[in-house]
Amino acid sequence: MGMADSIKILGHTYTFEYRDLRHEGNLGNSCGMKGYIRVDTCQTESQQKETLLHEIFHQISYALHLELKEDTVQRLAAGIQALIVDNPEMFTMTLPRRTEKDA
Ligand SMILES: [Zn+2]
Repeated sequence: MGMADSIKILGHTYTFEYRDLRHEGNLGNSCGMKGYIRVDTCQTESQQKETLLHEIFHQISYALHLELKEDTVQRLAAGIQALIVDNPEMFTMTLPRRTEKDA
């Protein structure tokens, strides 16, 4: 699989930009107005994914006026990253669905 190059968040497309951000003092940043999410490529792959989740939570917070604090975004990203890594099948499996004829 190639590198992901964009994502849609609440109907808006964000371009992923992979950069060396060591001199910017953060591991990632994003802009809802300009539609980008930047990730520091000096991190390991799993750290980059957590950074993407972190920035995604910032953008969801921005779009929905949740006003999530930095600390909350940090914790959510770590928690969801662990959930996805520990349960990858959850996001591709088919779930049983009760239909009218089962009733
Ligand atoms: Zn942040």
